[in-house]
Amino acid sequence: MKPITELSEKDIKNLKLIVLDLDGVLVPRGTKIKERANILKLGIKTVPPSIIKKIRLLSKKGFEINVNSGRGLWMLQHMLHDILDFISLTYENGSATWYKGKIYQHANSFSKLHHLYEKLRFVKHKDILGFEPKEFIITIHCKKRVNEIEKIVSKYKEVYYIWNNEAYDIGIKNLQIKSRGLKSLREILKLKKENVMAIGDNYNDIDMLKESGIPISADPSRVKGDFYVELNKKMLPAEQLIDRILEVKK
Ligand SMILES: [Mg+2]
Repeated sequence: MKPITELSEKDIKNLKLIVLDLDGVLVPRGTKIKERANILKLGIKTVPPSIIKKIRLLSKKGFEINVNSGRGLWMLQHMLHDILDFISLTYENGSATWYKGKIYQHANSFSKLHHLYEKLRFVKHKDILGFEPKEFIITIHCKKRVNEIEKIVSKYKEVYYIWNNEAYDIGIKNLQIKSRGLKSLREILKLKKENVMAIGDNYNDIDMLKESGIPISADPSRVKGDFYVELNKKMLPAEQLIDRILEVKK
């Protein structure tokens, strides 16, 4: 992997679509959540104004910009309200895409997740913080791994869980994955793999990065890419990447 400072104009000569993960890339990692007695408290993070401005610049240069996240649509629309004119949103690990106000559903998980969800709702454990509202996948925030959740999900052969150190994402294997969303978006936009750059920092980004011609890692300890962005810098990974693209793009 090369540092992002080595990305050149030649590397992006075919680039048309830039796919950004949200958590750990556009906003810092970590979600504040608390669910007690049917009251859900959920912290909403904001994307720094400097990044919003630079995404507008990218769009003016002719790039398509997509945010591909495990989060739900309402949350993404809320967090990215100022730039909805310029971006598309692929959400809940590739389950669907919002593009210019239209929703393209890529996965139907209802029959496979409905009963599992009912079971998980009744797990009582001191380390479970709450369920994040989602339409197609199940996300359970926990203080640490909860064996009971993993045991229940493991009984469902077609269902995966990913533990990302703050929550479990639970969905259908090979279907509710970010790369499926990206492939569908590419079809909508009529683009090839070589036209796509993707950046992500976590385990649910691995398949998405493999589906892009220019994969960028925002955490080399968790995901691999052709290039990487340094984690410990004060600037968020998305901003470091956008700065470099704007630098080299004529
Ligand atoms: Mg992330």
